[in-house]
Amino acid sequence: MKKIIKPITITFLIALTISLIYFIGNRFYHTFEYGNNSYYSFYSAIEKTKEEKLPDNEEEKIYETIIETDMKYTDQSIPNKEWVIDYIEKEAKEQETKCNNDLSIIEEEITSTTKIYGVNLCELSEETANNIKDALKYIYEKYPFIKEYVTNISLINDGGTSSYIAAFKPSFTYMTSNTANRFPFVIKIQVFLNAAYYLNDKYFDLIIENASNTNHFPKSTTKTSLVVHEFGHVITYVLAIKNYNSINTILLPENNFSNYATTLKEYATSAFAKLIVEEAYNDYTQSNKKESKEEFRKNISGYANSNDGNGDIIYNETVAEAFHDYYLNESNAKPESLAIMNVINKYIERLV
Ligand SMILES: [Zn+2]
Repeated sequence: MKKIIKPITITFLIALTISLIYFIGNRFYHTFEYGNNSYYSFYSAIEKTKEEKLPDNEEEKIYETIIETDMKYTDQSIPNKEWVIDYIEKEAKEQETKCNNDLSIIEEEITSTTKIYGVNLCELSEETANNIKDALKYIYEKYPFIKEYVTNISLINDGGTSSYIAAFKPSFTYMTSNTANRFPFVIKIQVFLNAAYYLNDKYFDLIIENASNTNHFPKSTTKTSLVVHEFGHVITYVLAIKNYNSINTILLPENNFSNYATTLKEYATSAFAKLIVEEAYNDYTQSNKKESKEEFRKNISGYANSNDGNGDIIYNETVAEAFHDYYLNESNAKPESLAIMNVINKYIERLV
């Protein structure tokens, strides 16, 4: 007997398909939201410094930026990448109503050398902004493959001095589309400078002095080099994108979602950075004196031996600190840092 599909069955099937698409779309979306909160690394100060006495009335004063960093847009019609870039650039500029001309010029120079579209640093002192501009120029000339990945560099209000100094946040879902599955997404890759430190020079100087003296940061750390540390994360992350066959996420189509999710997971859990550190440790101990893995990390800096509170080593910090040390001290950096830089260069040669 011939099977007849009744109209009511068809209606049911269509409804089921639509709800499945929505379900999958939502699941993706929530995966990203979860990622926003956990998939980043930051550069923290040591607690000891915070207990130190500060000059009177410095302690009470709150240093904040006017910049808003958490705008996001859903149900957008997103024509192409150029439109997205334009949107990010305009949004960053429109927020800086009182930027003085010299600082505006520095920001424009940063955008032109790095292709970081949203730059919000105009409340910094001119000296700090200039130093950061020079450091970024140096990094992007030496590692041009990271160009066009970081979308924003900005001051941020995020928890005051009980929070981080600087942060790398690679997975902020900035826009979703008005399509059934919400793709393409726009993912911002961002570097943040906490206003509570970067706009409070006296307090920040004290932190840096204390943390350098106790080997928490590498030798000769500065306000600028703490930003350079974040670009150690950027380099690691972009290499992870290439290693796991993902793409630049400024416009993320559905067919790259799976590779992107893998990249994020391998980066966020420090699994990728661990590959780099382990290879560097093996190279180092084969040709140099024996030392434990912990000594290897600690010799870079205290922060290079960070753990996540559960006792798991944050290898992302080990790599970023090696990069930081190399930037500051070049061939005089710790041999352990140089061993990590050798492995990074091997990855660059293979993947870029
Ligand atoms: Zn870090």
